[in-house]
Amino acid sequence: MAILYLKCKTCGVRFYSGIASDIKNFNTLSLINKTHQCPKGHVNVYNKIDYSF
Ligand SMILES: [Zn+2]
Repeated sequence: MAILYLKCKTCGVRFYSGIASDIKNFNTLSLINKTHQCPKGHVNVYNKIDYSF
């Protein structure tokens, strides 16, 4: 399993999304318009393209 990270759209900080997946299963995940909060408190909506390992 690997941890999926996001880059905050407001401040650019990289943070753990709370979602773990392996690379194989990542392709089958549907991550559409999911709301996440960065450690500094910025809330943004993210889609699959925004996630990285
Ligand atoms: Zn932020």
